[in-house]
Amino acid sequence: MSFVTVRCWPQTHYAQIKAKVNKVHLAEMEIKMFKYPIIDSHIHMYSEADLEAIETAAREGGYSKYTLLSGSLFPQRAPGNLSVAWAKLKHPGKVYGYATFHMQLEGTPDGEDLLKQAKEYHAIGFDGIKMLDGKPSLRKERVPIDNACYDPLFSYLEENQIPVLYHSNDPIEFWDIEKIPEWAKDIYYYDWKEPSKDQITKETAGILKKHPDLNLTVAHFFFLPNTDEYDLACELMETYPNFCMDLTPGWEMFQDIHRMEKEWKSYIKKYSDRLMYGTDIGGVGNNLEERIKPLRRVFETDDVFPLQDYTCYGLDLDDTTLKNIYAQTYRTRIQKNDPAGIDVERLAAYKKELGGRIEAYKKIDKTRAIQDMERFWELIKETKGGNGNV
Ligand SMILES: [Zn+2]
Repeated sequence: MSFVTVRCWPQTHYAQIKAKVNKVHLAEMEIKMFKYPIIDSHIHMYSEADLEAIETAAREGGYSKYTLLSGSLFPQRAPGNLSVAWAKLKHPGKVYGYATFHMQLEGTPDGEDLLKQAKEYHAIGFDGIKMLDGKPSLRKERVPIDNACYDPLFSYLEENQIPVLYHSNDPIEFWDIEKIPEWAKDIYYYDWKEPSKDQITKETAGILKKHPDLNLTVAHFFFLPNTDEYDLACELMETYPNFCMDLTPGWEMFQDIHRMEKEWKSYIKKYSDRLMYGTDIGGVGNNLEERIKPLRRVFETDDVFPLQDYTCYGLDLDDTTLKNIYAQTYRTRIQKNDPAGIDVERLAAYKKELGGRIEAYKKIDKTRAIQDMERFWELIKETKGGNGNV
């Protein structure tokens, strides 16, 4: 175990590969950053600059495919679904795109509208739905996330096995001003006007109780190692055969696991066909150095190293576990097919509605949102794969 060693591929090995495959594009060579082919199941994208940064990271990380998540929930980012559709058109066969609902951020969501949107996004060719309703800052303004208003939506998603990636909860430290990490203080300190971590955990399980076959992935290991909820983690896997989690940091995860190292390591091995690699990268920061390389280090080595305010303990996972987490789980459970094509005519109908939604929003810079929408629409029309006559 070492604090500083990184077991990168040795230079000589790279040189040998280079000699052998000097005609092969560099991107194909760099797939060797990870031990096995890799799909990133959790990437955020909004702007053209975001996509450019993500394309670079995907090339450097040797990603075979990756999943982009829209931020359309936030009114100022209402055109987010269009931006993700554009990325899918730009990278056909490589990019999965998850739409996010337009919905009011306070009170009770309009369940009928959520259902209508889900059907629309599925018909357009989005590959799944991203939801953030279990984020404590959002949840505090609204009804419980297992409220009946969501039932028609989840029943439809369950019946059609449409994948849902769901952010639920946050680290327990975020409720404690003494313990919350410095980087999170200004944005994520929860002063107990928010519901508790335990409450949100129960509500999330409540969704599964009502919709046990939902193709649901809860992000960030559902923050279960954070509160040593090993028994609950086992119970969820045993009770709900479609339930999956991604291992996208919060880096606290790789510190917290160490408290029950034996249990969590055997858990990750046992349920590796229900767990997935994800990074949470986007357009900000150095994706390769700050996210992708440290994640590889956590999964493939037993190094112990500092990151953000945490100490990460490498898991040194075996080959089968790595293969599952890196790509197999995603391809066998979440996306059995290659990314769907985008139906640009349906997308045009959606864009019309979107203009109306933006006009109806209060307290946002509508001019800017409309400009973004029109710009993404121009990009969609220009991009190979669009039918050009919309
Ligand atoms: Zn995320």
